[in-house]
Amino acid sequence: MSVTLATVSYVGATILFILSLGGLSHPETSRRGNLYGMIGMTIAVLATVFGPQVTSAGYGWIIGAMVVGACIGVFAARTVKMTQMPELVALMHSLVGLAAVLVGFANYIDPAAAGQFQGAEKTIHEIEIYVGILIGAVTFSGSIIAFGKLSGKISGKPVLLPARHWINLAGLLIVVYFGREFLHAHSLSEGMTPLVVMTAVSLLFGIHMVMAIGGADMPVVVSMLNSYSGWAAAATGFMLNNDLLIVTGALVGSSGAILSYIMCKAMNRHFISVIAGGFGTEGGTPAASSGTQPAGEVVAVSAAETADLLREAKNVIIVPGYGMAVAQAQHTVYEITKFLREKGVNVRFGIHPVAGRMPGHMNVLLAEAKVPYDIVLEMDELNDDFPNTDVAMVIGANDIVNPAAQDDPGSPIAGMPVLEVWKAKISIVMKRSMASGYAGVDNPLFYKENNRMLFGDAKKMLDEVQAALKG
Ligand code: NDP
Repeated sequence: MSVTLATVSYVGATILFILSLGGLSHPETSRRGNLYGMIGMTIAVLATVFGPQVTSAGYGWIIGAMVVGACIGVFAARTVKMTQMPELVALMHSLVGLAAVLVGFANYIDPAAAGQFQGAEKTIHEIEIYVGILIGAVTFSGSIIAFGKLSGKISGKPVLLPARHWINLAGLLIVVYFGREFLHAHSLSEGMTPLVVMTAVSLLFGIHMVMAIGGADMPVVVSMLNSYSGWAAAATGFMLNNDLLIVTGALVGSSGAILSYIMCKAMNRHFISVIAGGFGTEGGTPAASSGTQPAGEVVAVSAAETADLLREAKNVIIVPGYGMAVAQAQHTVYEITKFLREKGVNVRFGIHPVAGRMPGHMNVLLAEAKVPYDIVLEMDELNDDFPNTDVAMVIGANDIVNPAAQDDPGSPIAGMPVLEVWKAKISIVMKRSMASGYAGVDNPLFYKENNRMLFGDAKKMLDEVQAALKG
């Protein structure tokens, strides 16, 4: 393929990626957005493989690697459950980071790449390598820890080392010092030591940063690592002199940064306090609740009683959470919604920005079940409507409906906006036990006078509610 054709293909792919991001901004256009992304990526891969930078000697390696990668991808897509998606995404981010590290080292070692540059150009190339490896290593180790936390293999609680800010500062100074050493190195072996030390420090920084963030604040980390993976890809693009990778990386990096900002706003947090660590904690130690433990009677209801309450209601708001995803209850939820709407009940869905385990998690599930978009509303759009709501039905959600976020300044989730379901005439919480949610905090909602608990697996209980409604 000629250089011109490769460039034109890259421009085409870039435009498709931008259209893809635009499409993904709304559920109705998201399928189209995905399609644009897939076409763009196919063009990008073909233009790169058959482009001027690859010689025919490399085809065997490339095709072999593509076959292995495709097999792993197909296997993951077929076997990974929807509830495991967030951890899969975290794992994917770690691979982008690892790729940036490996490309950085390969680029430094490769005599052909090194011989290409002289003077200022050489310095710029070395800075690209150093920064690329740095971002890649932080992304890699941070994403591995995020994977561990999201999959429950590592405790979700923040791990706060004493003097952690000093440790971070020391890490930064070491990285700057060895960066200077790296740039002044006269030979490959001389430059290798600072590069390896910086990589080790960056890996430790990534671990430390994500370990210090815990509980309900993980969504910000997930989107932040998404952004880092974009910058790592852009850095790889600089090292490989690949314009498309630079542009694509920048698109992912900046959209991830915007998502992190939105997440921070949704959680009422400052971005800097997230990355400085110890998020969801106070004054350097894990925050204890202010001592007012929720207490009182918990009133359990049966599926039949829930059906009666729903049948008599005029306005119903359904609040789905992570438990709905675990139970795969979205289809039954929609069957019940359809039934109630046919009976003239006004049913709407209230979506919290961090419900579930990944941004947009609930929207994806509800769209899969074909719930009409116009009854799926953001938290801000319907939070004021709860006082006029007869029944607020909480399906497998916990942290996002916890009144302690408003009432208990000592709570780790204090200040996080929540769906005010307790303001409805009756709230019904559907979950299996009294266990806490992801943030690990007790929920005073369960003990409120107007709250009812429907204990059991969400899918099983909703099936029973549906049967009772129809019966
Ligand atoms: P929570 O984790 O707070 O609560 C989910 C509840 O679902 C649990 O208390 C559990 O209770 C219940 N549950 C689990 N399985 C079932 C089942 N089969 N049937 C019925 N109930 C079930 O989820 P929320 O959606 O309310 O809040 C999301 C939390 O996750 C927030 O803390 C958020 O910060 C965090 N998070 C969000 C991310 C995102 O990007 N959206 C990423 C990472 C973390 P029980 O065991 O008693 O059934």
